[in-house]
Amino acid sequence: MKLQSLFGGARLQMDESIDMTLTSLLAYGPTHRHWAIAWSGGKDSTALLTLVMHLLDTGRVPRPETFTVLYADTRLELLPLYVSAGVIQHELRRRGVDVRTVMAPLDKRFLVYVLGRGVPPPNNNTLRWCTRQIKVDPMAAELRRLVGDRGEKVLMLTGVRQGESAIRDGRIAMSCGRDGAECGQGWYQETLPDQLCDTLAPLLHWRVCHVWDWLMFHAPAPEYGGWATSGVAEAYGGEEAEEINARTGCVGCPLAQRDTALDAVLAQPEWAHLAPLKEIRPVWRELRRPQRRLRQPGGEARADGSLSKNQQRLGPLTLDARRWALGQVLGIQRRVNEAARAEGRPPVDLLDAEEEARIRDLIEAGTWPQRWTGEEPRGDVPLDAVFADGSVQPLLPWDVEAAG
Ligand code: SF4
Repeated sequence: MKLQSLFGGARLQMDESIDMTLTSLLAYGPTHRHWAIAWSGGKDSTALLTLVMHLLDTGRVPRPETFTVLYADTRLELLPLYVSAGVIQHELRRRGVDVRTVMAPLDKRFLVYVLGRGVPPPNNNTLRWCTRQIKVDPMAAELRRLVGDRGEKVLMLTGVRQGESAIRDGRIAMSCGRDGAECGQGWYQETLPDQLCDTLAPLLHWRVCHVWDWLMFHAPAPEYGGWATSGVAEAYGGEEAEEINARTGCVGCPLAQRDTALDAVLAQPEWAHLAPLKEIRPVWRELRRPQRRLRQPGGEARADGSLSKNQQRLGPLTLDARRWALGQVLGIQRRVNEAARAEGRPPVDLLDAEEEARIRDLIEAGTWPQRWTGEEPRGDVPLDAVFADGSVQPLLPWDVEAAG
């Protein structure tokens, strides 16, 4: 029996969804000789990747001249997804697919940037540097390389979904899914230069339950390619996925309200050893406190010499704060991996030896973000208040006493 939908007809069933995906690939695929797929290892892009592989392998979609998989590795992937992505990558390579790992350069990676350079963890208000730096820019750079190799525009396939309501609202556009993207899903589409690629979002109309069914039952079956995708579905909370519609992001994402994806993973006994990862977000919260940071003393000017609006802003992490946080992250990693070893489970790799060494070097060299020298006062030191118009309100005696 078909379920009634809000738009009067029947809800899209799985095979109808696949047919629409097939139609979009047949319509737009032949317009490009070279295809690429942006694969985050998350549920939507993994469903797309394995479905496209199935359609190509069975000849239902003609093979492009080249097909390149761009695997986006933020270095902060949720471990079950990372493990599944590794197995799938291995299988793709075995089948002769060109798989390229896309990762930010060492100094731009999240943990090196925060703990080495001292840039505070991102927040939702003023400082959200991470998406561009660890996801968008590396993907754009790899895409530029790819287009350079191929000598012409490529068709970039993305796993962006808007759900079937997009059909009802007339918003569905099989050729491009620029709108409705959010971090971890179609992030690069908003900013990648148009001339490098055209984008196609063949799962735009898929419901989350279709994604779940594909990953859990279809893709692992031999007739669909025998892919190791059930671990991806389970990482989202298994059958609960439809209810919570969980999205994964980086482990310990400072912008998330809750660790929904990590909580779903920890509820599974085989991943319980990852519990110390819950302590990462409190580390980021602690690092936002004034006593962990420097503050501009007042009188900061713009390039044109006028006073900047945000006087006495809080800035980078003190060197001590960075050393403290590095110890915390390494401690979390060590505890997870001790448990992993004891239980014969996969270890986490929050910080590898190269990253740790680079962080220590940057701290020892007293590295500061642009426009900071390290001579500024700590954020909790009481100061005369300086305003954007240049007026100064001297520190009152009881402010000093309170701070003392
Ligand atoms: S998941 Fe969070 S930490 Fe990772 S890039 Fe997105 S906003 Fe930044």
